[in-house]
Amino acid sequence: MRIASRLADISESATLAISSKAKALQAQGVSVVNFGAGEPDFDTPASIKAAAKAAMDAGKTKYTPASGIPELKAAVAAWSKRLYGLDYSARQAIITCGGKHALANAFLALLEPGDKVLIPAPYWVSYPEQVKLAGGVPVNLPTRAADGFRIDPDALRKALAGVRVFVLNTPNNPGGFAYTPEETRALADVLDEFPDLIVFSDEIYEKLVFGGRVFKSLPAVAPELKDRTILFNGAAKTFSMTGWRIGWSLGPESVIEAMGTVQSQMTSNPTTIAQWATVEALNNCPPEVEKMRAEFEIRGKLMADGLNAIDGVRCLEAQGAFYCFPDFSAHFGRTVQGKKLTGSVALAELLLDKAHVAVVPGEPFGADNHVRLSFACSRDIITTGLERIRQVLAE
Ligand code: PLP
Repeated sequence: MRIASRLADISESATLAISSKAKALQAQGVSVVNFGAGEPDFDTPASIKAAAKAAMDAGKTKYTPASGIPELKAAVAAWSKRLYGLDYSARQAIITCGGKHALANAFLALLEPGDKVLIPAPYWVSYPEQVKLAGGVPVNLPTRAADGFRIDPDALRKALAGVRVFVLNTPNNPGGFAYTPEETRALADVLDEFPDLIVFSDEIYEKLVFGGRVFKSLPAVAPELKDRTILFNGAAKTFSMTGWRIGWSLGPESVIEAMGTVQSQMTSNPTTIAQWATVEALNNCPPEVEKMRAEFEIRGKLMADGLNAIDGVRCLEAQGAFYCFPDFSAHFGRTVQGKKLTGSVALAELLLDKAHVAVVPGEPFGADNHVRLSFACSRDIITTGLERIRQVLAE
């Protein structure tokens, strides 16, 4: 059957694809170390599950307003006030079916055909694909691992000419870096020079920063940008609630209303029970959140040290999120176990086929010298997986 041309240039999510390939191998009885998954390995905290059960028992199982229940809108606004001192009204909040869905709504609500969206690389795989689906044109802004993937202000200024939306993601997937408030402020000074620019700030890893770092929401650092910034966030990473599919946006009322219109025709409300569970998560943030963060910090260091101990691999220590993004390019051009390592995709194939270790190639993140390894898995798994990688590459 003929598939619509708007899909001709759209790829399947590379991260989900590698995860399902790893799971298929596991189902055949192969012991696979999965560094591919972008989700915490911890269970959802008990207090959140209890709130979901209570909601079900109370009959909260019907449709809600398409843009979410007022209680959850109030909770996300209160969270943002508590953490960053930001003021948002309920009309400036929308609840979505995950953070991914909030972004899709916003691109659909704002982009005219041909509108340019500037995306610093490395970037989360879904940004460019969602932009294209909405008729826009993703524009890549390269950064360098040697600079800790920081955006060069002059390069940013040049790249912003004619751009409608700029996407900032810190703490970052896949780069594992996190901007300090001062670095965010320096970036905001450049964004400020473009009064028609809309800023998307994806803050879904806000609670996952390491080494005593502090994260601050963009409009808290740059209040002058608040009227043209849309915040993206969700319950998945902070509360280990990936499967519950709750995300949200805060931003100017007109944009939030337009996103609500899109949502009302596409999905209707996010799952009612999951919304009530997220009210509990936000209003009574469970102690597990900090415990998970502390464990991720230890694992991030273990993984970076282990990667740096492998010949020809260079890795920055993660500052946030739960990813290492090492440079393996010193191995490119080699042939290992009959496989020519032409780039990150070939390397990921080798590691999955011969070492039974799943990593995500950097190519779809806009950084082909790198691969992404998630440390959302136990310390033992990290040690085992890195040893397997070392052995295969040592041959
Ligand atoms: N933004 C970033 C940078 C992500 O890494 C993810 C998930 O991997 C999301 C948004 C969306 O998360 P979800 O749709 O699970 O809430």
